[in-house]
Amino acid sequence: MPYEIDETHDPKLESWVESANDPATDFPIQNLPLCDFTGTIGDQQDRKLAVRIGEKLFLLDKALEAGLFPSLPSDLDGTFWAGFTGNRDVYSIYELESGVRKELRRRLSELLGTTCDDLRGNPELIDRVLIDAAAADFYWPPSAFDYTDFYASVYHATNVGSMFRPDNPLLPNYKWIPVGYHGRASSVVPSGTPVRRPTGQLSPAEEGGAPGFGPCKMLDYELELGVVVGRGNELGQPIPIGEAEDHILGMCLLNDWSARDMQKWEYVPLGPFLAKNFATTVSPYIVTMEALAPFRSPAMVRPDGDPKPLPHLFDERDQAHGGIDITLEVFLASKQMRDKKMDPIRLSKGTFKDMYWTIAQMLTHHSSNGCNMQPGDLLGSGTISGPTREARGCLLELTWDGDPFANPPKLVPGTERTPIKLPTGEERKFIADGDEVIIRGYCEREGFRRIGFGECRGIIEPAIG
Ligand code: MN
Repeated sequence: MPYEIDETHDPKLESWVESANDPATDFPIQNLPLCDFTGTIGDQQDRKLAVRIGEKLFLLDKALEAGLFPSLPSDLDGTFWAGFTGNRDVYSIYELESGVRKELRRRLSELLGTTCDDLRGNPELIDRVLIDAAAADFYWPPSAFDYTDFYASVYHATNVGSMFRPDNPLLPNYKWIPVGYHGRASSVVPSGTPVRRPTGQLSPAEEGGAPGFGPCKMLDYELELGVVVGRGNELGQPIPIGEAEDHILGMCLLNDWSARDMQKWEYVPLGPFLAKNFATTVSPYIVTMEALAPFRSPAMVRPDGDPKPLPHLFDERDQAHGGIDITLEVFLASKQMRDKKMDPIRLSKGTFKDMYWTIAQMLTHHSSNGCNMQPGDLLGSGTISGPTREARGCLLELTWDGDPFANPPKLVPGTERTPIKLPTGEERKFIADGDEVIIRGYCEREGFRRIGFGECRGIIEPAIG
C-alpha cells in the first residue's frame, strides 16, 4: 500500500539540484513526479519519460542505461512499451508493482539527494541525464488508452441536481455507486493547448421548443483531479477494493471543459456526450501515490442515515486512509486582463479530502463487472466542490444563487445567475472567448515538505464559423 511514510518524505532532505530547494517550488526532492515530454535533447528532438526535480528534468531512460538503478528489474527501461491495443504508447514503468515503485523512488531520492555521489560526482553523466525543464516544448497527457469521468463530490452532485431537479437533487443510486460515464481519450490534451469553443445542439429556450445549433453559450470548466492507472487487470477479473491502490500510479490536475447548454439538452437518458468530449485538459505531471503518502486522511465520514458502502466497496484501510488532502485553486484571466498585465483572479479554493467516494472505490467499481483497466488509463474524479460557496468547482455552481446546504435550503431554478466581476469591469456568468482558466494544486501538512502539481491551463478560442 502506498500509504507508508519513509525516508523519502523527510522534510529535511535537500537536493544538489539547487532549484529543488526553493521553498516556493512545486517540485522539491520529496515530490519527484513523472512526465512524458518532447524536447530538444543534445542537438535533436526526442520524446522521453522524465522525473521533474526543481527546474530540471531527470531522463529515466538515460539513467537506466547508465546503470544507475542496479536493484530494479533488468528488463525495465524508460522507452515505450507497446500496449494491449497498440494504438497508444505507455512506458513500462507504469506497470511496476508497488514494492518496485517504492524502490525506484528511494533510489531517485538517493541519486538526487546530497549524501550520495553516484550521480553528483560525475559531471559527464549529469550532462546526459539532466536537462532544463524549459527545453521541453510539448508535454504529453498522462492518459494513454481510455478516459472515464466520475461524479464523486456529493456537494457538486447536490448543487447541480438542485438546479435540474429541485425536488429530487440526488438520484437514489448516488450513495450506492460511484456514478461515472465513459469520456474520450482522443481529446485529452496537455496544459497549454488552446481549446476551441464547441458548436452543437443547444437546449431549447422554452420547454417543448426546438433546439438551436451554434456555438455553445454556456461554456464552463470543471475542477477535477485525474487518477492515472498503473498496473491493469485481466478482462473478467475485478480489482478487489483492498488491492485497488496498488493499481494506481498517481494523480494530475484535470479540467473537464463542459458545454452546459449542450449538456442540458443531451444528458437524459445516457449521460454526457458532446457536451464534454470536445476537450479535457490535464497537467503534465503524474504526482505518484508514494509522494502523496504524507497527505492522506480518513475517507469522508458519511452523514448519519446514509447507507454504508456495499462490502465490495468497503475496506477498513481505505476508510482510514482513502482521503487525500490536496488544496485546489481555480483562476481566470480574460484577454483584457492579460493585455493589461493583470494577475489572474481566483474563482475558488477547495480540497479533495471531502469526496464522497475514494479513488480506490472508483477504480474498484469500474472493474467490478470485469472491465479491464489498462496502464495509463485516466479516471476523472468529477467536479470537486465543498459545502461553502468558495469551494464550488465550476461556474455553473459559482454564479448560481441557490444553496441546498443552507438551513432551510435556498433553491433557485438555474436560470438566474449572479455574474462574477473581473478587475477590468468585465463580468462572467460563463467563460468568454479569450479567457484563460488555470488550475493549481498542492499539498501542505505540518512536519512535511509542501509538494505541488504544477498547473493545468487552457485559453478558449472562438468557435469555428
Ligand atoms: Mn466532470
